[in-house]
Formats: sequence, C-alpha cells, structure tokens
Amino acid sequence: MKQERCLYCFENIQNNLSFHDWLRQDDVLCGKCKSKLHVLQLDTQLEKMPLHILYEYNETMESMIFQMKEGRDIALAPVFFHSFRKKIIDRYRHSTIVLLPSSKEKYAERGFQPVKEMLKGIPMNIVEPFYKSEDHKQSLQSFEERVHIDRIIQRDYKISLPKTPLLLLDDVCTSGSSLKRAYDLIKEHTYKIEALVLCAHPLFVESCDKKGLRHRKSFSILETVVRNGR
Ligand SMILES: [Zn+2]
Repeated sequence: MKQERCLYCFENIQNNLSFHDWLRQDDVLCGKCKSKLHVLQLDTQLEKMPLHILYEYNETMESMIFQMKEGRDIALAPVFFHSFRKKIIDRYRHSTIVLLPSSKEKYAERGFQPVKEMLKGIPMNIVEPFYKSEDHKQSLQSFEERVHIDRIIQRDYKISLPKTPLLLLDDVCTSGSSLKRAYDLIKEHTYKIEALVLCAHPLFVESCDKKGLRHRKSFSILETVVRNGR
C-alpha cells in the first residue's frame, strides 16, 4: 500500500519522514503525525493475563480515535495498527482475536464497529462472545466510575470459543476493568489467553509501574518504530 497523503492531516506523506521510513514507503501517516504518537510497546500483566500495550493514550491518539468514531471517518481506520501489523500477525498467528462488546446503540448510530475496522489489515479470525447488558456512556463517567463498568459485559454462551489461544483486543484501556471482566468470563478456556490494546491511559500505565509490572520489552514489535518514534 503506497499512500501519497497522510490519512490524518492530508499533507504529503513524506513530511518529516525518517530516512528509514522513507525507504520503506509503507506509511499511512506522515512523519509529523507519527512523531506525535507515543509508542509504548509495553509488556505488562493484568492479574494473570499478559497484556501488551502499543501506545500511550495521548492527545493525538484521542483526537484520531474521536475523528474516526464520532466523526465517522472510516478512512482513518488503517492508521491505528499499521506500524505493528506484521508483528501482530507474526506473534499471534495461532490465536483468535476476541473483541470486547460494543454497544448496540453506538453501532446503530455509527453503522460500523470501530475496532473491527481498525483490524481490517490484520487477517486473523475474530470471535465476539460478549454483549453489553445495558448502555453506558463511558466518556461521561469519571475514572473511578469506569472501574465498575465491568458489570455490564456479559458472555453469550451460544457463541463457543475456538480451540486456539485467544487474544483479547481493545482500542483504549482506561482502568483495565473491561479486560479483566472479559478475562474472567472466558478464563476456563484451556488455551492461552493474552490481551493487546492499541493504547492505554497514562494513569493505567503508571499503576502498572507502581506494581512493578513493567516487563522486559519482549514484545519488541518493531525496532523501526522505536528508532523513528523517539
Ligand atoms: Zn500527517
């Protein structure tokens, strides 16, 4: 995929691109926009489940996600996992992606499922064994209130889990409670369960640090991302 214009700012894709990225000719964001995203590639733990965080949820990530979800800008979908695409496929090729439930209300309003759109460049099987029992407006809640959101995620037992390792996947991790709840609902699964999030709230990252849960960088997704992003 060779992109002429940055999918976010529409400037020339080669703007501020590092020499390495320029050589690869495989970007969907210009160098300027890329540099505003904070790559974390953090391996941590959510209770017993390994959790991998790609980015920090900063201002730029927030506006990109907002533009896609609320501005219904589906064209922006490839930017989120693009830099990590190959590594995700490589590392999790035997796993099935498990999506967290999106609210029916939101789906009806938008006409698309944002995380599913973001994952279109990743040819892996997806299963959706959860649903929400009621609608909550997450963005209107405080950080503390969001901790209790786990109650509304339910398991749909009509949908069976595949006999493969599972990868719980979400876009934003705020408190980790949704992932924890989802994990609790499937933890009887006999294959390995891991989680991958596009980005995590700085407070969540800080809480991992406080618990000493910032692990070695085994998920060294792309040396190139580190080299260019810092
Ligand atoms: Zn740009």
